Amino acid sequence: MGWVVTIDGPAASGKSTVSRELAKRLGWQWVSTGAFYRGLAYVALQKKIAFDDVPQLVELSRSSEWSVEMSDSKTKVLFQRQDVSDLISREDVGNYASKISHYPDVRKALLEGQRACSLGHAGLVAEGRDCGTIVFPQAQAKIYLTADQSHRAARRAAEEGQAQESILAAQKTRDKQDSTRKVAPLQVPESAYVLDTTHLSLPDVIQKVEHFVREKIPV
Ligand code: C5P
Repeated sequence: MGWVVTIDGPAASGKSTVSRELAKRLGWQWVSTGAFYRGLAYVALQKKIAFDDVPQLVELSRSSEWSVEMSDSKTKVLFQRQDVSDLISREDVGNYASKISHYPDVRKALLEGQRACSLGHAGLVAEGRDCGTIVFPQAQAKIYLTADQSHRAARRAAEEGQAQESILAAQKTRDKQDSTRKVAPLQVPESAYVLDTTHLSLPDVIQKVEHFVREKIPV
């Protein structure tokens, strides 16, 4: 296994943009682990599987009908050979993902695929909720990004072209679900570099994160 850098944090804290750019600068692979949860949630919604039907969800997690693929620009989800990456980014799919991610058996079923992303590459930047705590506890550099709730909602609303109020309400629910669940809750990993991005520009955030990583890892 090569180098691993993890970036965790709440919804719309800038994890994807920052981790993607960091991976590009380091010449490494990048994965958004949320794609595993969103992908499973999307397929479950298509198949009308209830969010609490754990045995069916676990079975579906192993199905060859869908898969997650890394690429430089996005972590793709393919369902029945169609690229559904744009469809899984919707907040309703995110919310379903958050609901199914409560169940230990569902998390366990998705773990192996996430860990496999680090194999066969010089390095990997992985972002999510539990990357530094559970998926890659051995990561050489761990980062935790956060920002004001209203700031994060405004960011996502602008990206999605939706009203800020409805995004804010959905994000609050999702953050609460993600940080209060019993298994692998969203939390700051030990020894993580915590960065509040509320008053920082994107280039500043990237520069700080890159500086931290290069101090920890000789790249
Ligand atoms: O990061 P993203 O918004 O794509 O994640 C969608 C949902 O998937 C999160 O709200 C969370 O419930 C779940 N998730 C998780 N663990 C991860 C990544 C995502 O539980 N490592």
